[in-house]
Order: sequence, then C-alpha cells, then structure tokens
Amino acid sequence: MNRAAGDIDTLIRGFVDGTVDDGAMTAWLKVVFERGLPAEDTFALAMAMASSGQVIDWSGVTGPIVDKHSTGGVGDAVTLVAVPIAAACGVKVAKLSGRALGHTGGTIDKLECIPGLRTDLSIEEFRATVDRIGCAIAAASADLAPADKKLYALRHKTGMVASIPLIAASVMSKKIAAGADAIVLDVKFGRGAFLAKADDARRLAELMRTIGVRAGRRVATLLTNMDEPLADSAGDALELDEALTMLEGRGGSAPLRAIALETAAAMVRASGVSAGAADSDAARALSDGRALEKFREMVAAAGGTLDAFDRSWPAGVEIRAAESGRIERIDARLVGEAVFDAKAGMTADAAARTGVRVRRRGGDVVKKGEAVLVSWLGHHDARLELAVSIDAHRRASAG
Ligand code: URA
Repeated sequence: MNRAAGDIDTLIRGFVDGTVDDGAMTAWLKVVFERGLPAEDTFALAMAMASSGQVIDWSGVTGPIVDKHSTGGVGDAVTLVAVPIAAACGVKVAKLSGRALGHTGGTIDKLECIPGLRTDLSIEEFRATVDRIGCAIAAASADLAPADKKLYALRHKTGMVASIPLIAASVMSKKIAAGADAIVLDVKFGRGAFLAKADDARRLAELMRTIGVRAGRRVATLLTNMDEPLADSAGDALELDEALTMLEGRGGSAPLRAIALETAAAMVRASGVSAGAADSDAARALSDGRALEKFREMVAAAGGTLDAFDRSWPAGVEIRAAESGRIERIDARLVGEAVFDAKAGMTADAAARTGVRVRRRGGDVVKKGEAVLVSWLGHHDARLELAVSIDAHRRASAG
C-alpha cells in the first residue's frame, strides 16, 4: 500500500470508530469534491470502505455469482425485471439493493409492496436463497460497508454527493463487500440521474470498472439515458405493477424492457453461462414466462405473497397537454421530485401507492387536452405540468 492509500485507510477507520469527527471528514471531502482524487486513491478509498464491515463469502455456493447496480434513476425498475431474467438463464444473481435516495427510487421500497415479503434477509438466508433458487434481492445489512453508510449520510448533509470519485468509491465498496465474481454497472446520465452529462457518466463507469477489475472482479458497464422516466410509471407500487406486467408479457414501457434485457444479457455474458447467445437467451426467458416463474420463486422464498399485491388503481388525476404538438420530453427529475416530496409524512402504505403514470413520451404527438400523465400524488403539484414540454411548431411542421 503506498503512503496515500495507507493514509486513506487510517482516515476511514478513524471515521468509523469516531476518532475522526464529522468536521475533519467534511474538510477532506471538500478537497476531494472540489479537486477530485487520483484513481489510485479512489481505489484505496473503495477498498477501505469495503473492508470496514462484513465481506460476503460465497465459497460453497456454485458460481460464478453475478451482481448488478444502477447509479439511480426515476422509474428505474430494471432490477425487478433483469434479475429474474438472468436467473432464468442459469446465472446465480446476488443483488443487494437500497431504498429511495432523493428523487431516485429504491428497489427495496418497491419489493416491500408485496405483502409478507422480507428484504432484511440475514447473509445466511441471502446465500441460501441464491444457492437454491438462483437469485435473491435483499437490503444491504448495516454491517456491509458501514463506512459508506456514514460517509454517504455526511455527503448528503453537506451537499457533496455529485462527485465522480466519491460515487465510484461508494458504489464499488458495496459491490466488493457483497462478494460477487462479476458485476454489471448501469450508469445513468441525464435529467433524472445524479450526473447530468454523458461524458461524466462515462468517466464514472470507467473509474468503477477499473476499481472492480483491480479488486479481482469481472465488470461490465452500460450507459443509460435518464432524461425521461424509464418505466411508464414512477412510484413504488406502480413500478412493481409495471415490472410484473412486463414479466407476464403483457406490456410495460419500451425503454424499461430494452434496458432490462440489455442488463440481463450483460449479466449472462459476465457469468460465462453463455456468451454469443446472451441477448436471445435473455429475450426468450422473458417471453416464455420463465423469468416470471423465477420472480415468483424469489418472492415466495422471502415470505411474500405475490397474489396479495393489490394491482387495482383508483382513477388518478390526469395531467393534460397544454397545447397540441410533439412532446419533447417528460422531465424525469421533476416527476421524481414530485413523487418524492408527496411521500413525505405519509404512512408507509400510502407512500408506496403514491406515484405517477406516464401515458405519453418524448416524440409522441398529442392534442391539446389529451392526458399525458396520471397522478396519484394526493395533491396538485405544478412540477408535473412543467415536466411535460411540448413543441407546438413540430406538430405543425409534422402535419
Ligand atoms: N449511489 C451510491 O451508492 N453512492 C453514491 O455516492 C451515489 C449513488
């Protein structure tokens, strides 16, 4: 370990045991936030955070074990679709997920809409489910990369989330501690992502790949546009409903389907289960119902009763096109923020059923007064109207 790496390890240990206080850590974070961090030190930071708690040992489970991670978005229900597809293709998928972070949704909140389902699996339960069924999605335990949890809370409080080296070390510390042999990283950019620019997302993807490879893992990266919600819905129960609809072969948004299939195929390739046929294998596992069956098995193993999940929706409030024309974009950030803010102060059950459905997307031609979004926010939020930008001239020129 070079001098800087040793210093970083000491700093992180001290922060976890309390000998380095928030003030000293904030001062260090500020330097990194403003000036960046060399790749060597970013690797040291990721490894120090990964080793600050338990590291999952997969020996005894026939692998290879594959994990996936998204840097976060709006309507990002990819995990719910891609994980069972990959497992149905024969991949062992061990996915530790998080809760909503700011305007971005969290897989754990979505899964918990299923009555009876537990996401707080012990490491032993998590390992056993992956071994027996081929996939599990659980909440990361408090003991997994605890340095990241503490550091992330401080970054959040001090407004220092959007830093490429800090995000890279944060994500990779958790992935390394989760112990998978191969990791697929879905890096989002655009309005609804933490990073707006595609170039920054590319740099983040490359940095995370370098960290993972140096830590001895196989890493594949995808870059995903997050300007519009990926699913045709944003909100925990709505997104779960849409993911199920997709697994049942009854619809769901085209962008969600494309990214879920791409992610699942990358997981299949990374696992080495099948290389050349990964794309067609993934598509077949979705269309022939095997992915849905895998999802059902995974839910049952976690104590959930899928059929008890209420998929009926009362009439929502329609947000209508203010003029005729071509939709330029449904702004993912405004939709995500409106949903996030609406949930504040609600009971968990009410918050889970809060959300927005996207009826029309960028590129669609609409008539004035046509419903573009449907809201179950429980109140009027002007951000939903602002989220719909329409180019009236394009309509005229398009005839
Ligand atoms: N997601 C993470 O896990 N960490 C970050 O720092 C940002 C997004």
